[in-house]
Amino acid sequence: MPGPRERGAPARGSNAFPWRGVGPEQRGRLPPVPALNRAPGSLQLGAQDRGPSCTPVQRALLALTPTLEKLQEVKGRVLEALERGLSQQSRARSTMQMLPTFICSTPDGTENGDVLVAELCQNHVRTLWVTLAGDGNQNPQLMYRVFETPGDVLQGSGEALFDFIAQCVKSFLEEIGNPQHRLPLGFVFPFSCRQTGLDKAELISWSKGFQCSDVEGKDVVQLLQAAISKQELHHVDVVALLNNTVGTMMTCSTPEKPCEIALVVGSGTNCCFMAESDLLEIAGVTSGRMCVNSEWGCLGDDGALDNVLTPYDHRVDQESSNPGERRFEKLVGSLYLGETVRHAMLMLASEQALFIGRNTSTLATKAVLTTQQVLEIMDNEDGMAKAQGMLEALGLQPSERDCCRVQQLCRAVVSRAAALSATGLAAVLSHMCRSRQLERLVVNVGVDGGLYRTSSRFGEILRSVVGLLAPECAATLVPSGDGRGLGAAIVTAVALRLVAQRNKVERLLAPLRLSRADLERVQALMKQEMERGLDRESNATSSVRMLPTYVCHTPDGTERGKFLALDLGGTNFRVLVVHVEEDNIHMANEIYVIPTAIMQGTGEALFDHIIECIVDFQMKQKLTGQVLPLGFTFSFPCQQLGLDKAVLLTWTKGFNASGCVGQDVVQLLREAAQRKQHTTLKVVAVVNDTVGTMMACGYHDPKCEIGLIVGTGTNACYMEERANVGTVEGDEGRMCINMEWGAFGDNGCLDGFFTSFDQLVDEKTINAGKQRFEKLISGMYLGEIVRHILLALVEEQVLFRGKPSHNLQNRDIFQTKFLSKIETPGLALLQVQGILCNLELDASYEDSVLVREVCQVVSQRAAHLCAAGMAAVVEKMRESRGLEQLTVTVGVDGTLYKMHPHFSQNLQQMLRELAPRCDVTFLQSEDGSGKGAALVAAVTCREADPCSPQ
Ligand code: ADP
Ligand code: MG
Repeated sequence: MPGPRERGAPARGSNAFPWRGVGPEQRGRLPPVPALNRAPGSLQLGAQDRGPSCTPVQRALLALTPTLEKLQEVKGRVLEALERGLSQQSRARSTMQMLPTFICSTPDGTENGDVLVAELCQNHVRTLWVTLAGDGNQNPQLMYRVFETPGDVLQGSGEALFDFIAQCVKSFLEEIGNPQHRLPLGFVFPFSCRQTGLDKAELISWSKGFQCSDVEGKDVVQLLQAAISKQELHHVDVVALLNNTVGTMMTCSTPEKPCEIALVVGSGTNCCFMAESDLLEIAGVTSGRMCVNSEWGCLGDDGALDNVLTPYDHRVDQESSNPGERRFEKLVGSLYLGETVRHAMLMLASEQALFIGRNTSTLATKAVLTTQQVLEIMDNEDGMAKAQGMLEALGLQPSERDCCRVQQLCRAVVSRAAALSATGLAAVLSHMCRSRQLERLVVNVGVDGGLYRTSSRFGEILRSVVGLLAPECAATLVPSGDGRGLGAAIVTAVALRLVAQRNKVERLLAPLRLSRADLERVQALMKQEMERGLDRESNATSSVRMLPTYVCHTPDGTERGKFLALDLGGTNFRVLVVHVEEDNIHMANEIYVIPTAIMQGTGEALFDHIIECIVDFQMKQKLTGQVLPLGFTFSFPCQQLGLDKAVLLTWTKGFNASGCVGQDVVQLLREAAQRKQHTTLKVVAVVNDTVGTMMACGYHDPKCEIGLIVGTGTNACYMEERANVGTVEGDEGRMCINMEWGAFGDNGCLDGFFTSFDQLVDEKTINAGKQRFEKLISGMYLGEIVRHILLALVEEQVLFRGKPSHNLQNRDIFQTKFLSKIETPGLALLQVQGILCNLELDASYEDSVLVREVCQVVSQRAAHLCAAGMAAVVEKMRESRGLEQLTVTVGVDGTLYKMHPHFSQNLQQMLRELAPRCDVTFLQSEDGSGKGAALVAAVTCREADPCSPQ
C-alpha cells in the first residue's frame, strides 16, 4: 500500500537516497543544505534551519541527510585519523587505533590440516573443528558447537572466563573423539588488543558488556593457554589471536580473488584492511602487507563528526552506557538506529509535528523501537502497515500521515548509516590506492553484519556512495554470509601457515644473521690473521697475505706530468692516459674486452693481447712513439719485490691464464712488448686497485690512508708502520700493505660462519675453497647466494608456492644488481614483482616480500662482515700509532659499494659500533684504479723510489 504523499515533501525513497544519480561532475550543484553546527547536547534545531517552506519534519529529514560535500569532509577526517593512527608518533592522538593483527597474508589455498577455533561471542563461546585439504579451501570439513555463557561469567574474574573457554574446548574435543595429535588453536577475541605478534596480544579494554577482572593489560593468549593447560589439554597450542573482522576478510577471499578489506556493520561497526607494513611502523616488520584492525567505531570521539551530528544523535549518545565514546558506531551500528528514530519521533512530537494530540509518553522509554522494526518499516510493500502496527502498539494512534513520516525517518536514519559506512570505506580505499602508488585500485571488500544482510537498500547506498567518494577505486562488495565461523578457521589456518612458513624461513636464514658477537669474533680473527701475515715466520700460513706494495707515500698534491695506466683485474680491461696538473687530473681511457678464452688461455696470449690494446690506444690517442711512465693496476694477489716487480701468487675473479703464477707480471708484460716490438713501454710501478683507490682519494684528502674495494671482488690496503712489517727490511716510516683480505678464512678460520649456501656457491666457482671472505661479500657472489637461498625456500614450499622454477636453476641468473634494485627504499612491491617477472619467476606479492627479505639479509651480512674486517684494520692502525682516537679516511671503489642502496650505511654504522675509538670517513674514489696507478707512477718519479728494497 503506497503511503500518501505530502506536498513539498520529497518523493518516497528519494529523501533517503539523495546521492543517487549524482555523478562527480554534478557534485558542486547539489542543493545547499543549511549547516548544522551546534553545540553537542543542544536539542533544538537552529533557527537558520527554518527555511520559510520547511516543515519540522522536512528539517529533521534534511538534518539526517548529510550532503555529499559533508560526506567528503568526513572522508577527509577519516583519512586523517587513519594516517595518524598508522604512525607511531601520532597514534596516541588518533581516534582510530589501527591495530596490527600480524596477519600478513590472505588465504592462498594451500592451507591444510586440522584447526581448532575458540570464538568468544557476546553470549556464547563457539568451538570449531575444521579440516582443510589444501585444495583452495573448496571443501572444508567443519564441525562446531555453541556453549551458552553463564551470565555471571561476563562480569566475574578473568580466570573464570578463561577456565570456561578452556572447558568448552575440552568438552568439544571429548565429543569429537578426543583427538590426541597436536592441535593448533585460533582464538577469536573481538576486543581491542595491542598485538605484538600473532600469539601475543594484550587486552586494551573490554567493551560490549564484558568486564572481567584482571584481564586488561594482560596477554590473553597466555591466559587462555594457561587455562587450557589446567584442563590437561597439553596437545592444544594457542597459535594465534584473531579479531572477528579479519575472519570476514578471509571468508570472502579466494586464492584467485583475494579480499583485502572487510567491513562489518552489525550491532557495532568495524573495518580492517591489508595495509602496507612500511607505513605501519611496527618493529621488525618492514615490508609487505599486514591486516590492520582500524577500530573505527571510535571515529568522531574527538569531534571530527560534529558536522553531521543531529540533536537526536546527541540524545542517543547521552542515554548510552558510554556517552562521548564510539560516536561513529552510534551513527552506523544497528544497536543505535532504533534509538535515533525514537528520539526523532519524540522531538518532532514535542514540536507538534507528529502524533498531534496524542500522549507520547511511551516513546520516552529506551529501546521501545528496535532496529529490526526500523528495517521492516522501511519496506516498500509492508512498511506502512508495519509502521502503523508498531505505533499503535505504543498507543500513539497514528494517522496515515504519521506513519508516512515515521517511514521517512526510518529510511533517512538507515540511509545515513549506509552513507557514513560508505564514507569510511571510501577513505580506506583511497588510502590503499594512494599508499600502493596505484592510479586505480581494484579490490574486493568483504561485507558482513546484520544491517548489510537484512537491508538491500543499505547495500545499494553503500555501493553508490563509495563510487562517488572514491571514484579512483573499483570496489566489489562480497557478502560474507559466514554463519558457520569458517572465516575464523581460515584465519587460523592462514596464521598457522604463516607461523610455519616464518619458522622455516627463520631456520633457513638464521645462519646468515650474524650477531654483534659473531662480528666481533670475525674482527678478532681478522686482526690475528693480519698480525700473522705481517710476521716473517707465520706469513706463509696466514690466510691474509699482507703483501708489501713498496708504496710508502700518499700523494702530496705536487705531483705533475703525463702518464699511461693499465687497469687489469676488474670487470673491464682499460688503458688510460692521465695528465696530472696543478689542481686537476684529466684522463682519457678505452675499454677493451678480454675474451674468456684469453682470460683462461695461456699467459703469453694474455699479455700479447694487452700489448695490442696499448698499441691501439696510443694510436687512437696520438701518443705513438712517446715514452710515458706507466702505472699498471693489476688487481690480483702479488708478492711484490719492488715497486715494479710483482710475482703473481694466484689468479682470482675468473682469470686463469697458464704460466703466470709465480712469475713477475711486469716482466711478462715487458716480454710481450719485446715479442710485439713495442719499444716505448716504461713500466714504473705495478699497483693493486686498492692501492690505486687509496692514492686517488689521497690526492684529495691527505688523511686517506686506507683503500677498499667492494666490486666484483673485495680487498683492502692501508698504511702500516714499517716496523711492523716483518717481511720487508727497514723500520722507518710506513708502507702500504695490500691485505688481500678476500682470502681471509682460506685456512679454515672462518669455517663456522659459512652456510650451506656459501658452500654451494663456492663449489661452483673456478677457485673452490679460495677467497672465502670475498665470496661472502662481493658482487660476483651475492646474487648467487640469494639464488641458492631462493631455491631452498622453494624446496621448503614457502616460495613461489613450492613450484620449482626452471629459471632459478640457471647459474648467475640472479645478478647482484638485482639486490640493489629490489632493496631500493620506497620501491613498491609491485615493482619487485616486475623485476622477478622479468626473470620469468612467477612471484606473488608475498613472494616479493620474501625475496626482498632474503636480499636484505645477504647484503647486510656482506656489509657487516666488511665492517668487521675494516674495524680490525682501523683498530690496528690506531694501536700501532699509540693513539686514543684515530681519524682516518677510507678511499672506496666498487660498484656494489657505490650502487647498493644500503651497503655503505650498513658498513659504516657497524664499523662505528665495532671500532668506537676510530673516526672513519669514507670517500668514494672516481676511477681509482686508473688515476691511482698514474699517481703511484707520479709519486715514484717525484721521490725517485726511496723505499725500494736494499
Ligand atoms: P670491478 O670490481 O670488477 O673493478 P666494479 O667495481 O664495477 O668492477 O664491480 C662490478 C661488479 O659490481 C659486478 O660484477 C656486479 O657484481 C656488481 N654490480 C654491478 N651493478 C651493481 C649494482 N647496481 N648494485 C650492486 N652491485 C652491482
Ligand atoms: Mg674496479
